Amino acid sequence: MPGSLPFEAVTQDFNYACDRLKVRDEIRELVRTPDRELRVEVPVRMDNGGLKVFIGYRVQHNSARGPYKGGIRYHPEADLGEVRALASLMTWKTALMGLPFGGSKGGIQCDPTVMSQRELQELTRRFTRAISSIIGPDRDIPAPDMGTGAQTMAWMMSAYSEEHGYSPAVVTGKPVEIGGSVGREEATGRGVSIIIGAASKDLGMSLQNSEVAIQGFGNVGSWTAKFLSQMGCKIIAISDVKGGIYNSRGIDINALLKHAGEAGTVVGFPGCDRVSNEELLALKCDMLVPAALGSVIDGSNADRIHAKLVVEAANHPVTPAAYEILKQRNIQSIPDLLANAGGVTVSYFEWVQNIQRFPWDMGRVNLELQEIMLKAYQNVYSRVILEKITFRESAFLIAVERVVRAVELEGLPQ
Ligand code: GLU
Repeated sequence: MPGSLPFEAVTQDFNYACDRLKVRDEIRELVRTPDRELRVEVPVRMDNGGLKVFIGYRVQHNSARGPYKGGIRYHPEADLGEVRALASLMTWKTALMGLPFGGSKGGIQCDPTVMSQRELQELTRRFTRAISSIIGPDRDIPAPDMGTGAQTMAWMMSAYSEEHGYSPAVVTGKPVEIGGSVGREEATGRGVSIIIGAASKDLGMSLQNSEVAIQGFGNVGSWTAKFLSQMGCKIIAISDVKGGIYNSRGIDINALLKHAGEAGTVVGFPGCDRVSNEELLALKCDMLVPAALGSVIDGSNADRIHAKLVVEAANHPVTPAAYEILKQRNIQSIPDLLANAGGVTVSYFEWVQNIQRFPWDMGRVNLELQEIMLKAYQNVYSRVILEKITFRESAFLIAVERVVRAVELEGLPQ
């Protein structure tokens, strides 16, 4: 089912890397599985007077390279298996980017779109208190993910600080007014566009007028659309949960942002045909950018993908079965751990600024982001060429190698 991501899906890439790197079985098992999994009950008094008990999770996967780092997801399908899978992805993502973090993820099974601000604040504060003994600026640093944002992080910081004293570095993705970093909100989309810029050169694709279809118009999808259209790409299709729109001549992203801001959806934007989310994935285009849920390209639709390049802006949008099919069909895909790492990279900058109590300006944030993204891209691409492997294989090889090395250096029980 699209949206729910099993841990085994990520394990497959990890196993590939371990086989190639000849990682010993005992270390493989230690690194594959999470260090800690916390499940908490979060009771909330709802606006209708009733008490509702939500279930929340924080999974800490690995911290050999630094404190655990990863977002918190509010979604009806957030379950332990998915949070575990996403936590392990964060370990590989921070390692690939060379950030001094490990990997973790959190989630609450809820539908934030039908909850009031008061209910969401209550849920967030109680959840923060429930996990406060295992998070902290040097332990585990949450951030936004699907269904959460800067306001959620502000509540988390406030609830944590009530107990531990002023602690801006306990979460990233905060509003700028209370210690967030400039450029964090658009960072994931900016990172996607930096990677697309670099990859298109190496793959001999011109960005000018190249046709792009984007699934998702939330934080990641909308910023990606904006940056790509500034770079000269023609965005021919965009969708959100309510459906999608298509225009072969290209969509005016600024006008669409205005429309979506008012209508709450991209649907109904003038001058476009309607497409379903499933149809969008199958469109003939140069680049397909899944920027919403996980597992949307699976064994059942991978042979209908007609893009030259798939760029994984969402977390794990391509299942292992689909990845094999795309590979056989010679469709390149850029893995999430590289493509969407701009978010956690600027989260790192935010954490550094909080610890140093020294805010950076936008110029510095974007310059350093560009440098880190391009360096990681180059590392991945050199291995693609040298070892004749895919982007995904290369990214996992680099990441797993770094984490395994760190685990060995920490020292194993004798
Ligand atoms: N949730 C984002 C991700 O999946 C950002 C995580 C972070 O900034 O820590 O990469």
